[in-house]
Amino acid sequence: MKVRVYVDSSLCRDCKMCIRYCSQRAISSGPKGAVIDQSKCNGCKLCAMACAFGAIKIEEIE
Ligand code: SF4
Ligand code: SF4
Repeated sequence: MKVRVYVDSSLCRDCKMCIRYCSQRAISSGPKGAVIDQSKCNGCKLCAMACAFGAIKIEEIE
């Protein structure tokens, strides 16, 4: 099952915890909070577990 991991910017508080957890350096902080670079993300979901605000969403794509 492939997943797409993305940030719901309406929930992101820009605490940057997910950035610390991402081993792929796929997350950066933009003007609307965290942004995930899909070309680097391996779908490990660690960032979603790290986010205390439920801002990281996981969508099954296949
Ligand atoms: S951990 Fe959650 S609230 Fe914090 S920057 Fe990442 S997505 Fe935003
Ligand atoms: S799912 Fe894993 S690789 Fe993708 S952004 Fe989150 S922590 Fe990084």
